[in-house]
Amino acid sequence: MNHTPPLFLTARWVIGPDGPMENGCVHIEDGRILGVCPRHEVPATLFEDAPNAEHRDLGEACIMPGLINAHCHAPMAILRGVADDMELLTWLEKGVWPLEKEFTREMTFLGAMLACAEMIASGITCFADMYVWSGEIARAVEAVGLRAVLSEGLLGFPTRTYGSVEESLALCRSFMEEFKNHPLIRFAPAPHTAFTTVSKQLVESYAMAGEFDAPWLIHAAETASENARVQELHGQRTIPFLDSLGCLGERSVLVHAVDLTDEEIEIIAARGAKVVHCPRSNWKLASGMAPVHGLAEAGVTVALGTDGAASNNTLDIFGEMRAAALGAKVREMDPTALHAPQALAMATQNGAATLRLPFSGTLAPGQPADLCVLNLAAPHLQPCHDPVSHAVYAAQGSDVCLTMVAGHVIYDHGAFLTLDYPALLDAGQEIAAHMREIMDRQERQRCEDTRPQDSD
Ligand SMILES: [Zn+2]
Repeated sequence: MNHTPPLFLTARWVIGPDGPMENGCVHIEDGRILGVCPRHEVPATLFEDAPNAEHRDLGEACIMPGLINAHCHAPMAILRGVADDMELLTWLEKGVWPLEKEFTREMTFLGAMLACAEMIASGITCFADMYVWSGEIARAVEAVGLRAVLSEGLLGFPTRTYGSVEESLALCRSFMEEFKNHPLIRFAPAPHTAFTTVSKQLVESYAMAGEFDAPWLIHAAETASENARVQELHGQRTIPFLDSLGCLGERSVLVHAVDLTDEEIEIIAARGAKVVHCPRSNWKLASGMAPVHGLAEAGVTVALGTDGAASNNTLDIFGEMRAAALGAKVREMDPTALHAPQALAMATQNGAATLRLPFSGTLAPGQPADLCVLNLAAPHLQPCHDPVSHAVYAAQGSDVCLTMVAGHVIYDHGAFLTLDYPALLDAGQEIAAHMREIMDRQERQRCEDTRPQDSD
């Protein structure tokens, strides 16, 4: 990285590595955090010592670590609101898959751009994604300057990007090779589920994750009906089945993990596998409430994800933190089941550990300057006694006023600095019109297919 002048960000609050600090200062240089200290400790002679240093006071705001969205399907942003109020398998088979079949590369790219804009504007600095045509997603992520762990979803049947199982694995490997030295993007293998893949894909992609020291991402135990399907196909529920293949270990990232037995929680903990909790997607699809408290008690690292915008319907990690904390309390009927600092850690440090990112997800010295700033001046965030409580229980993504990745400000008080938002909005409207045409055509087709045949 090129040498950049020192930047001092000050604000009413900073959530540093040791917790919240009132009137704090974050010192950033060359894309990294040099330190966090109380504002009064910043020497008055600062600008004399470093005349090119920049000082920016953010006022009634909170500087906090950038949020990590550990599970997303970014291009599904263009399917937001088209298939609400359905059960998971119906949602997939009747709502989502027929529309996704019509996606073009350009639609995939624009969907990813919309999702990136939404995530940037709500303080997300890194996300994990699972989709097809992931090269288009990489193109969007690269353009906007986010960090990401991307994957070409592995399915046991032909997709738009590969025909056979062998081709799916070869494509996965080629992306992992291509991006292995990229400063902000890396690729990981991501079998879609245990029932939409074949065992060869699971086993070989798991080995590939080891070879590249990457995480291995899979939707697992999302619903009782998923477990029933896996049982029917493989004679075991998802977790024991993955374990029997040797696919549960420290690099395994089990997305959802809702329908788990106590024994399965023990297996996950013993293998060191990680879980990504997507509470709002799980609730919307009525999949259930993951046993987050039990997983955490067993020592499992749990991160947070939004899932795609078609099942959430926003990519807002503040919403997930709140849902995780509130949901755990109701599930256990215990208000102490998940504390605000734990929910924030799930969205930051645990996300970094789960995705095997080479940093901690905190504002500790030496860490990349990935951060977001929460505007506390809004009435629903006043007064502020504890910014961690506000981040989890009172704030929403739209309260974020600044987002920085690797020392670069990419969003600043409503302005996107790495993308042309008006142009993106126009493109999004065009896609919406195109999607409506597709849906009308599919509806007409369905009516024709179900129309009683003339007797003559
Ligand atoms: Zn998902």
